[in-house]
Amino acid sequence: MKEKSDIGLVGLAVMGENLILNMASKGYTVTAYNRSTDKVEKFVNGRAKGKTIRGASSVEELVQSLAKPRKIMLMVKAGQAVDDFIEQLIPHLDKGDIIIDGGNTHYPDTNRRTEYLESKGLLFIGTGVSGGEEGALTGPSIMPGGSPAAWEHVKPIFQDIAAKVDDGSPCCDWVGEAGAGHFVKMVHNGIEYGDMQLICEAYQLMKDLVGMTHDEMHEVFAEWNEGELNSYLVEITRDILAYKEDGEPLVEKILDKAGQKGTGKWTGIIALDMGIPLTLIGEAVFARCLSAQKDERVEASKVLNGPKVKFEGDKKAFVDDLRQALLAAKMISYAQGYALMREAAKEFGWHLNYGGIALMWRGGCIIRSGFLDNIKHAFDKNGDLKNLLMDDYFNGKIDAAQDGWRRVAATAITSGIPAPAITAALNYFDGYRCERLPANLLQAQRDYFGAHTYERVDKPRGEHFHTNWTGRG
Ligand code: NAP
Repeated sequence: MKEKSDIGLVGLAVMGENLILNMASKGYTVTAYNRSTDKVEKFVNGRAKGKTIRGASSVEELVQSLAKPRKIMLMVKAGQAVDDFIEQLIPHLDKGDIIIDGGNTHYPDTNRRTEYLESKGLLFIGTGVSGGEEGALTGPSIMPGGSPAAWEHVKPIFQDIAAKVDDGSPCCDWVGEAGAGHFVKMVHNGIEYGDMQLICEAYQLMKDLVGMTHDEMHEVFAEWNEGELNSYLVEITRDILAYKEDGEPLVEKILDKAGQKGTGKWTGIIALDMGIPLTLIGEAVFARCLSAQKDERVEASKVLNGPKVKFEGDKKAFVDDLRQALLAAKMISYAQGYALMREAAKEFGWHLNYGGIALMWRGGCIIRSGFLDNIKHAFDKNGDLKNLLMDDYFNGKIDAAQDGWRRVAATAITSGIPAPAITAALNYFDGYRCERLPANLLQAQRDYFGAHTYERVDKPRGEHFHTNWTGRG
């Protein structure tokens, strides 16, 4: 074992322990520390035994064990615990030392901490780590942002422990300044909500409208996973649909009440704050909220009526339409997520690595999918791309998919089967490609009741007009 450790890690819960073991397996020497120090003992004499891992029984001992510039990664509960550790570490650190927060931190906290630590001559990285406990051990997707000067020091470790895709490239690259890494992780989680909701809508249409069996649906997802929809979430859905308990599909025994931890909600809130239409992710969050109103829905189902439609179409053709709807809606979701990141970069002055972000999501995380390479290509072609839909590849794919997508949306609506994400995506597409929206009337209404004024199409932009609509004084 080296005399000084390459990195220290604080927080010996599932994520921290697994990241340490991952680092040690790549040849790094790591010092482990935890608030409750009995866990350090237990870890060092248990899972870490015989590996290049040493324990520290105090913050001071941790800091002294590290090679300079010191790198200390916190994998503790997000929030106050991170601030508390930062305060404990500061007196022991030297200029240029680096604190890394790898927890699920909300990006404004990372903005604040970066500024604070830089003001003290220290460097800070706030990084998204995706892939859960298994990913932490075998290769997560890592999305670091913070003090740019810190990146060269942590890059080798992070890229060595990150997931690798087929061509060997790591799912980890520099995202941008301050809270950019945690912002991108948050958008990643929002996109995950959207992808999951889209799959759930396809499942409900196949099951409740078309009347397909679980074995048939399993086959469909297996086939989709071999094509353009290839992704981790389609793959696990395939397996979930095949899973039986006592000969019956287990999925039907699961209560239809979705949980959420808040990152989808954060993404929706910031989109509203920034004025970016993130409709698909918003609908995905609300769909979870609606599902959680189980008791109310049970009551409503006895009172409120919808259409009674029997599916009489061509099953195979409808399933292919569904495939197209999923592909097109997913493209919309990424286009919206990227538009949000673009706006955040503008607002916070970040230089985001847009193509690199797609590559970081190609492996090690829940939204990994083949499709992400095309996003990278789009940004390679045009670094200033305003909207992914304006890229030839995405434009062409959506164009080819839109007939099927529209048929699915129309069928869902006329059949009374909810498909909020599929239809929200289509409405965004139709709105985005609309040269003239009815907001002229809306502006007239605002001017009528509130004298909010309007601009005119026949006058230069920026000139504001007010009309006395009633003629009254
Ligand atoms: P966790 O349950 O979120 O946190 C437990 C760790 O935080 C323990 O080391 C605990 O120390 C420490 N801690 C809690 N409150 C503290 C306080 N007030 N002061 C000091 N230390 C405190 O652990 P986790 O699931 O491994 O997650 C770590 C971080 O990674 C979290 O931010 C989490 O959101 C994020 N994350 C988790 C996953 C996942 O799949 N679990 C995936 C990605 C990211 P004690 O042992 O002394 O209590």
